[in-house]
Amino acid sequence: MKKTVRLQIVKPMDEDWEILGRVLHDIRYQTRQVLNKTIQLCWEYSNFSSEYKALHGDYPKNKEILHYTSMHGYAYNQLKEQYYYIQSGNCSQTVKRAVDKWKSDLKEILRGDRSIPSYKKDIPIDIVKDAVSLEHDEKNGNYIATLSLMSTAYRKEMERKSGQFRVLLHSGDNSKKTILKRLVQGEYQHTASQIVKKGKKWFLNLSYKFDVLQTPFQTERVMGVDMGVIYPIYMAFNYHDHLRYKIQGGEIERFRRQVESRKKALQDQGKYAGSGRVGHGTKTRIDPLEVIRDKIANFRETKNHHYSRYVVDMAEKHECATIQLEELKGIHQDDAFLKRWSYHDLQEKITYKAEEKGIQVIKVDPQKTSQRCHHCGNIDSNNRKEQASFLCTSCGMETNADFNAAKNISIPGIEQIIQTEMKS
Ligand SMILES: [Zn+2]
Repeated sequence: MKKTVRLQIVKPMDEDWEILGRVLHDIRYQTRQVLNKTIQLCWEYSNFSSEYKALHGDYPKNKEILHYTSMHGYAYNQLKEQYYYIQSGNCSQTVKRAVDKWKSDLKEILRGDRSIPSYKKDIPIDIVKDAVSLEHDEKNGNYIATLSLMSTAYRKEMERKSGQFRVLLHSGDNSKKTILKRLVQGEYQHTASQIVKKGKKWFLNLSYKFDVLQTPFQTERVMGVDMGVIYPIYMAFNYHDHLRYKIQGGEIERFRRQVESRKKALQDQGKYAGSGRVGHGTKTRIDPLEVIRDKIANFRETKNHHYSRYVVDMAEKHECATIQLEELKGIHQDDAFLKRWSYHDLQEKITYKAEEKGIQVIKVDPQKTSQRCHHCGNIDSNNRKEQASFLCTSCGMETNADFNAAKNISIPGIEQIIQTEMKS
């Protein structure tokens, strides 16, 4: 988000208004010259290109012909010497302002719907981001800006030690004070700004940007996450009948097998190596099983960060205010190693990443969520004749079993719903 706040320059801190006033007038005068000259040079540049095209059938490669890669470079390099009062960054910004104006007006100018831009007196002075710094005087609550205005040549001409001016800003009402406070604390960042004169007073039109805190989530939208054997993660949404995302479990499973077989090989080896290893002194001895444990931990850490980020990103993308996960106590038996190894950690990572974004995480009892038809509510163990597919014995809905479970998990208050359905 970008905004601008107008702050009156009350006075220079270290000298008379007379000096600052003169400098501002000089710079404003040259700024106007730069703007109008840039427009002329834009014309020149465009005409040159058109003539070149008429002769050669194509537009010139800027760099080869004009020695500049852009209209901005073409204008700036000719003007910076001529209008040498202005601090170079600010001058470049002024050129950019005119070039942008030229480019946006060009079509209408060529159609004759708009005249060529011309800058009158009283135009604002550009001041780039790096030419402004802000400080807060805690003692008296004043906000002070340091403005870098003069080129080195101009500074020498004026016999000054510095081209910068420290000025007192009128912080005005509380909303302006809050903005200044946030700028000084770094919560907001100021961007390219301008200095303008209104009547007899000078103002700093300070532009700034900040991040919008979070996406507006839709409170009724829930993402359900099923954790299974075939797919470690399967995502579905309560408000959508088909939308789904899944993570393939292959890499976890492959890594697990690999690790298990190496562990076994080492244990077998250990039998034969016997006490031979120990004789070389305890300091250099590295337990190979420990190395494997570290490898598992690293792999899990990396993958779980990756997976949890994906889950939260998908919830955010679809503006879900809530993610529902299955309570882990429901997972047990067969693939116990894989479950213990991964899922608890994965859920923790999903939870904290979601909460950072303002998405709430609710754990639901997954009981019967794999046997219940998300479409008609029929609960029947015969719905799951095979591991991977789901075929409802009542309504005939056929779908992926993990998708069906994730759909059930995404339903708000699913535990209560299943309890009620079980009674009837
Ligand atoms: Zn059904």
